[in-house]
Amino acid sequence: MENDSKIILFTGCMFSGKSLNLINKTFQLNENYECFKPNIDNRDGDFIVSRDSDTKLPAKRIKNLSEILNSKAKVIVLDEIQFFDKNNFEKAILELKKSNKTILMSGLDRIANGEFWDTYKVAEKLADEIVRLTAICDECGGVATYTKKISGTNSDIEIEGEDVKYIPVCEKCFYKK
Ligand SMILES: [Zn+2]
Repeated sequence: MENDSKIILFTGCMFSGKSLNLINKTFQLNENYECFKPNIDNRDGDFIVSRDSDTKLPAKRIKNLSEILNSKAKVIVLDEIQFFDKNNFEKAILELKKSNKTILMSGLDRIANGEFWDTYKVAEKLADEIVRLTAICDECGGVATYTKKISGTNSDIEIEGEDVKYIPVCEKCFYKK
């Protein structure tokens, strides 16, 4: 059987519409699908939610990526991939590719310190197609490709919440003190 596996990555800074694009693509493919997201991300419960619209997809929150390997769906949808362990992630994606799956994934490219997430680097390498999304810079209105943390602890990796806020900024505003 011919392997028509395809891996599409939606990436960019926060507030760039990654989840919306992920959701739209999932509907567009019109195949049976199953969605997953990392257990650590508890913001939207058991759903992939777009901030820009009311659409959402039910998603299974998983601790370990091996859980997706048993899925019978043709399309595997993964949100917030930056929170998955990079080694397990690579193994699981290669395994899915062998079983002829379409893999749609979405996640941040950069950490709030400006560096790339390890799992993003793996995803970028594995993807057949990469959709780069941008937001509007919160400080100057330019094209935002970075995420800046404006409140919370000193950690660059902390789930957004009531006391933990991030804004999208352009490169210039990100590096400006
Ligand atoms: Zn700016």
